Amino acid sequence: MTIPAWCRRLAFAALLAAQSAGGWAQAAAGTATAPVPAPWRVAIILGLDPSTPAAVLQDRALRSALLAAAPNGVEFFSDALDAMRFRGADLTPEFLALLSRKYERQKIDLVIASTEFGLDFVEKHHARLWPGAAVMATGITEQRLRERAPPADFATLPIVFDYAGTIGIVERLQPKARRLIVIGGEGIFDREVSARALEAARTSRQGWVVEDWHGVPLDELRARLAALDGSAAVFLGSMYRDRNGRSSIPAELIKPLSTASGAPMYAVYQTYVGHGVTAGSMTDFEANGRRMGELAAQILSGAVAAAGATLPAAAPRCMADAQRLAGFGLAATALPPGCEVVGAPPSLWREYRNTVLITGLVLLLQAATIVALVLQRRRRRAAEAEVMERRIELNRATRFAAMGELSASIAHEIGQPLGAILSNAEAAEMMLDSGRADESQLRAILADIRRDDLRAHEVIRRLRALLQKQQPEHAPLDLHETLVDALELIEPEVRRRGMRIDRSLNATNAHLVGDRIQMQQVLLNLALNAMDAMADTAPPQRSLKVATTDRDGGIELSVADQGHGVADEHRGRLFDSFFTTKPRGMGMGLSIVRTIVEAHDGRIQAEPGSGGGGTVFRVWLPRRVATEPVPLAQPQSAFRQVPA
Ligand code: ADP
Repeated sequence: MTIPAWCRRLAFAALLAAQSAGGWAQAAAGTATAPVPAPWRVAIILGLDPSTPAAVLQDRALRSALLAAAPNGVEFFSDALDAMRFRGADLTPEFLALLSRKYERQKIDLVIASTEFGLDFVEKHHARLWPGAAVMATGITEQRLRERAPPADFATLPIVFDYAGTIGIVERLQPKARRLIVIGGEGIFDREVSARALEAARTSRQGWVVEDWHGVPLDELRARLAALDGSAAVFLGSMYRDRNGRSSIPAELIKPLSTASGAPMYAVYQTYVGHGVTAGSMTDFEANGRRMGELAAQILSGAVAAAGATLPAAAPRCMADAQRLAGFGLAATALPPGCEVVGAPPSLWREYRNTVLITGLVLLLQAATIVALVLQRRRRRAAEAEVMERRIELNRATRFAAMGELSASIAHEIGQPLGAILSNAEAAEMMLDSGRADESQLRAILADIRRDDLRAHEVIRRLRALLQKQQPEHAPLDLHETLVDALELIEPEVRRRGMRIDRSLNATNAHLVGDRIQMQQVLLNLALNAMDAMADTAPPQRSLKVATTDRDGGIELSVADQGHGVADEHRGRLFDSFFTTKPRGMGMGLSIVRTIVEAHDGRIQAEPGSGGGGTVFRVWLPRRVATEPVPLAQPQSAFRQVPA
């Protein structure tokens, strides 16, 4: 469908009319009646150079605080008089003309005049430049505001420069210093700052010898500062202009001055920290900017009337430079409590927080593991000691049991000499009674009594030795002698059972290091088992062969019988704890024998006897010299797992 030309012309004309009446937005939306929400329009008139760090900080904070509170945004306009440096030139007429042109079509809601120079200008010209706009004076101390009394319809937001607080910090850090030098420029503002600092120093209690070095050109100043030492303190004020008329931005001078200075430098501006100033009670320009934003928002939103509106100045705060403090050997601990120390090398904690945490955790786990292992080791040691103790007890108990089996023959063995002693004593008595006592006969009787007594005594000694309670020892021993001693105890029982012992102790060297009693227990257990196995053997074959021979560098002890032998299905279980085929057996004998042999680094095995009859137990023991340590009686349990 084509639109007629007259129709297009009409639509265009309507659009133009709408635009001139209310703007494109309304026309485009077709809502000519609804007003467009207007942003707040704010003009900032700065007295100082807008590029100074203080101005930048303050301006940024002001804008973001105001934007956060503005329902429809903010249009900012900004002009800087830079009067700190260009005042003498008196550029007011030209500046005024420029601003008139600039603002003639702008409807400004609020003018923020910063510093006294800003206020001077705005006070004089605001009615012409920004008719109807509210005015807020900022960046001026309360004292100056009182002295110059801005118009009653102006809002004010004071600023604090804490000269006395800074001098107080100097005195804390350098209590012995007496010389205080105040550095400042030649400009009006510079002179005022110096005057305030000098006044604060003169009225302080430390009794400063105060020197006013104002207007000194940079090079000379550097030379003078270089001649100072730590017994002096320097207050760095404002230096927009030196006596030669050279202008500067104070913050730019701090570095060259502080690198030259032999004495610490102090100041009252937050923006000087980090460039070479040591410490001070600093004006917080950021907080100040935020306050300005808050007050401006209150005025613009209509919450408060501009006339006389105010907020308290942002409080100054103590700040110090860690590296400067360290450089002059000043103690950070002398600073007032809560003082912010900047530039400190980041602490291990701050920089490596996670690493420190993880490392700490790992160390903690490691420590816990070590403690757990130590405890476990201690418990294991205690358990091992307990096992050892039990094993000694068990060994002893089985020796008692073996003795029980030998008791009849032992009783006989002791009874025989005792009977003989009695008969001999009676014979001697009869001789004496008859009065025909022959001395030589009596002597023979007494000799018999002594021999029989010794015989009985020897049996008792052997018994005692075998049954005594003692820790296993590793001492040099002669295996043959040890075996013979035990065989003496066993032999009566062997005879009682109608058997005989064949000894062939042929090992060329029977010297071992070990435990005598345990060795005897090995023989005793093997011999008793052999006798049990031969219970049904025909008497002529009832022979128990005990032999030693040299083998593999050690000694082999063999105990062979002509008994019933070991059934194939029992062969693998002979040495298990509690394995027995005897109706009243305990099943501990061979288990203990193996434990003892292994504790002596030996080995034991059972095999069928030669010719297929009976069983031979072969015990191999290493030969040792006495000095060689032998780990005897390892804490290895005599109880072995019985396979299911
Ligand atoms: P116990 O003598 O109390 O049974 P042991 O551990 O001394 O316990 O012996 C375990 C088992 O080994 C015996 O019950 C027996 O069956 C077998 N045994 C041990 N020695 C011999 C041997 N010389 N001849 C045949 N079997 C034997």
